[in-house]
Amino acid sequence: MSNQEIPYKIYLTESEMPTTWYNVRADMKNKPAPLLNPGTLQPMTAEELSGVFCDELVKQELDNETRHYPIPQEILDFYKMYRPSPLVRAYCLEKKLGTPAKIYYKFEGNNTSGSHKLNSAIAQAYYAKKQGLKGVTTETGAGQWGTALSMACSYFELDCKVFMVKVSYEQKPFRREVMRTYGASVTPSPSMETEVGRRILAAHPGTTGSLGCAISEAVEVAVSNPGYRYVLGSVLNQVLLHQSVIGLETKAALDKYGIKPDMIIGCAGGGSNLGGLIAPFMGEKLRGEADYQIIAVEPASCPSFTRGKYAYDFCDTGMVCPLAKMYTLGSDFIPAPNHAGGLRYHGMSSILSQLYDDGYMEARSVTQTKVFEAAEQFARVEGILPAPESAHAIRVAIDEAMKCKETGEEKTIVFGLTGTGYFDMVAYEKFHDGLMTDYIPTDEELAVYAAKLPKVE
Ligand SMILES: *Cc1c(COP(=O)(O)O)cnc(C)c1O
Repeated sequence: MSNQEIPYKIYLTESEMPTTWYNVRADMKNKPAPLLNPGTLQPMTAEELSGVFCDELVKQELDNETRHYPIPQEILDFYKMYRPSPLVRAYCLEKKLGTPAKIYYKFEGNNTSGSHKLNSAIAQAYYAKKQGLKGVTTETGAGQWGTALSMACSYFELDCKVFMVKVSYEQKPFRREVMRTYGASVTPSPSMETEVGRRILAAHPGTTGSLGCAISEAVEVAVSNPGYRYVLGSVLNQVLLHQSVIGLETKAALDKYGIKPDMIIGCAGGGSNLGGLIAPFMGEKLRGEADYQIIAVEPASCPSFTRGKYAYDFCDTGMVCPLAKMYTLGSDFIPAPNHAGGLRYHGMSSILSQLYDDGYMEARSVTQTKVFEAAEQFARVEGILPAPESAHAIRVAIDEAMKCKETGEEKTIVFGLTGTGYFDMVAYEKFHDGLMTDYIPTDEELAVYAAKLPKVE
């Protein structure tokens, strides 16, 4: 098909939109390793998990078999307010690069939360409401997840308590106000409100917090308050299930015009957008029906896939959560203070970790100055101001398109543009003022954290 026949933006009609989520675990021969109880080292049972998570979400978390989950009508109705998200042909970027590659991006920033996180937030809030709960607790780092969850909770009239990593709370006061506009309460973490927060503050006075630490606080509040459960915006199997809507829409849009991607690229923090984007493509790959090159992109300053260990580790700093087998840098790992690009979680989705270990996907790490260069280059030709997280994927998409320019290959590249960067202007400012630096941890530094991994096998 010639370029002219393919629209600038491919949208799906309402009747073409997915009505089920796809569970890639059903097609994995090697299933992701189960969550373990840190006390007994036995797989977590549904009963144990149901003290922390909503019942329906526990079922989804543990279900390695059901291939398709019908999306409840209430969630489909909410999705219709901001989905389908556009699949955009980056004609302007291609022209600017002078590449024969065809570049598409799936843009998830077209909603007030500014990211893909709303896809799972609305699902998790729905199941909490259906169970008759009063509210949910969570953590947020950069703020996108907290915002998405606040929106979802206000829609279903649920109470929402957000522990926000202190450094972000102070650097991004407007993020906090958006969450409060939707009725959430926002506490900087670590706080004096929880036992684990007080313990962390006593051990590290003046700490600016971390995601792992905010998770511990949110879990403590959920399990100690009747009618509350904890929800998480990434990493978990259930989150990847909900995010499969990204990949299902992408695949439907490409199929509509007979386009077959050669390469699919996404940034990876905890793995939810990437896991969602690649889900149906990975399914074909696992079933031997098609092949795609799949690339996860992570920050060089927080390189869980490329330099982490595949091992059981705690999901949080306070060690109150179950153990997950994943590519991890160790649960106390915190990226260097100059790191501004997001994607700062120490671990990675168990599903993606298993797929990566089995050789179904690759990973690359990129330094933040290169990431912001790509972000700026993209903004100037495609208009959208990308989130720094998303710009990791842009970086590798541009690198791959430039390789095509050298070889003359007309590869089709699809990448996930997960969100917008309006709240990241402090980071952009540092970049523009030439004050942004790169920090790559040494092997010796990483070894210190790796040595502290819990002994499981
Ligand atoms: C949270 C976030 C990410 C990273 O999280 P994943 O779970 O790895 O997808 C990427 N981009 C944006 C815009 C985000 O808000």
